Amino acid sequence: MTSIIALYPGTFDPFHNGHLDIARRALALFDQLVIGVYDLPDKHLLFTHEERIALIEQCLHTISPDGRVRVMGYSGLTVNFARSIGARVLVRGLRNSVDFDFELQMAQTNHWLAEDIEYVCLFANAPNHFLSATLIRQISALGGDVSGLVPPVVAQALAQKHGRVPLPPPIPPRKLRKRLEE
Ligand code: ADP
Repeated sequence: MTSIIALYPGTFDPFHNGHLDIARRALALFDQLVIGVYDLPDKHLLFTHEERIALIEQCLHTISPDGRVRVMGYSGLTVNFARSIGARVLVRGLRNSVDFDFELQMAQTNHWLAEDIEYVCLFANAPNHFLSATLIRQISALGGDVSGLVPPVVAQALAQKHGRVPLPPPIPPRKLRKRLEE
């Protein structure tokens, strides 16, 4: 039997725990998984294409030590990219009815474009079902803690993007008084 390659396409700006969970579960269903990072979606982006790819690459060891998953950047039609890598399945995640309406239209459009490629949606699991990349970018931009929502490398990259560096250690009160008197 030939092995089934699935493509999980998205913007991943940035990759978060909800994305990671879908990738992990897709790996349990298919032989190989390619996480496809779309280069220029019709969205305002925080991370460049190269940065989004590099961040996902650094998270993969947590879901697949056996190398069945890889990250690839792409542009153009997702079904064309899927065909170029031999993927017969597109994997997407569903959080709610808004996602459902969008994915239904995407699935039907992709089916019209490429009948040979199947569309598989996995429901978001608690506690990730409320997560969105937009929400994470907003929380992080406002100084909130996103460390429980994204892999550690992504939390670090977000802090750097927003120019947050660790605070210096507090000055002991005696030294501070001395400094003020000078
Ligand atoms: P896109 O721009 O293609 O929607 P995203 O990076 O926003 O790219 O999302 C990629 C895929 O991951 C989509 O199928 C989306 O529904 C899914 N997804 C987003 N957030 C979550 C989540 N919290 N749990 C599960 N799936 C999610």
